[in-house]
Amino acid sequence: RAIVRDLTGVAEQNKCVCEVDPTVFDTRFLRKIDDLGEGHFGKVELCLYDPRGDGRGELVAVKSLKPNSKGQLACHLRKEIDTMRELYHHNIVKYKGVCSEEGGRTTKLIMEYLPAGSLKDYLPKRKHQTDLKRLLHYALQICQGMDYLGSQRFIHRDLAARNVLVENESTVKIGDFGLTKSMKEDKSYYTVKEETDSPVFWYAPECLMDCKFYPASDVWSFGVTLYELMTYCETSSSPTTMLQPTKGLMTLTRLVEVLIAGRRLPCPPRCPDTVYSLMRRCWEYDPANRIQFKGLITELETLLD
Ligand code: ADP
Ligand code: MG
Repeated sequence: RAIVRDLTGVAEQNKCVCEVDPTVFDTRFLRKIDDLGEGHFGKVELCLYDPRGDGRGELVAVKSLKPNSKGQLACHLRKEIDTMRELYHHNIVKYKGVCSEEGGRTTKLIMEYLPAGSLKDYLPKRKHQTDLKRLLHYALQICQGMDYLGSQRFIHRDLAARNVLVENESTVKIGDFGLTKSMKEDKSYYTVKEETDSPVFWYAPECLMDCKFYPASDVWSFGVTLYELMTYCETSSSPTTMLQPTKGLMTLTRLVEVLIAGRRLPCPPRCPDTVYSLMRRCWEYDPANRIQFKGLITELETLLD
C-alpha cells in the first residue's frame, strides 16, 4: 500500500509539470535578436526563446509598448492580446502567449515570427518574381482571414499592406490587431470615442465623418490594400499621395469632400479592369452597397480559375 501511495505522489508531481501553461513565457529566457518594426504605439522585436539555454530555442516575434508610453496605451496592448487569443485561422498571425515583466506591471505579446516581414517590405523587393496570379492569391487569403474575423464579430480597423505579413511566397497572414474592436451582440457597427492618429487614407467616409466602423468599413480598407498589392506597395503610388489634390495640404475635411465628390484611387498601371472594378465595389460610398468579403472571395476565385 505504501508503494501505491508513493506512485500516487509521483503522478501528482507529474501532473503539476504537465499543467505548466505553455502560453506563459518566462522573461529570463527571452533574448532579443533584432528589431522588426515600429508603429504608433508598439514596437516588435525578434527574440529567441531559449529555456534550455543551448541556443536552439524558438524564434518568436514580441510586441511591447514603446518606452515612455502612457498607461492608456498599455490598455491597447492588453486588448490586442485579448483579441489575438481568440483568433485561429490559417491567414491570421498566430498568438503564442504573453510574457510579464516588472512584477506583472507590463505585458508583452508573443506571436509566431514571419521571417519575410510585411507585404509593404516584401513586395517592392519581389516585384519581378510576383505575377498577377500570385497577387490575387494574396488578396484571396486576406479576404479569407477577414471573412473569418467578421464571423467572430471583430472589426479590424487597420487593414493595410503594412499589417499583412508574409509567411512564404505563397502564404500571407493578417496581423496588427491593435485597433481591432469587438462588436456588441446587438450592434452592427462600432463607434470610436478616442481617436489617435488614424490611417485616414485607408478609411471609408463613414469612419472619417461619424467615427462609425462597420464590417463594410474593413471592406473599404481591403480595397485600398488591393490597390497597394497591384502597385507592389511602391511609395510613389502610395494611397497617401495619390488622393492628394494638386495643390495644398490634405486635411480631413478635404479628403471627405474628395470622396463625397466620387473621386477614388486611380487604376494602377497594368492592373486588369476586372481587378480595378473589384476595388471600386469596395469603395461604394454607402457601406450597404459595398461588396462583402464572401462576395470578394467568390469573385477572386473566379478570376484565379
Ligand atoms: P504597430 O501596431 O506598432 O503598427 P505591428 O503589429 O503592425 O505594430 O508591427 C509593426 C511591424 O513589425 C510590421 O509592419 C512588421 O514589419 C513587423 N512585424 C510585426 N509582427 C511581426 C511578426 N509576427 N513577424 C515578423 N515581423 C513582424
Ligand atoms: Mg501596424
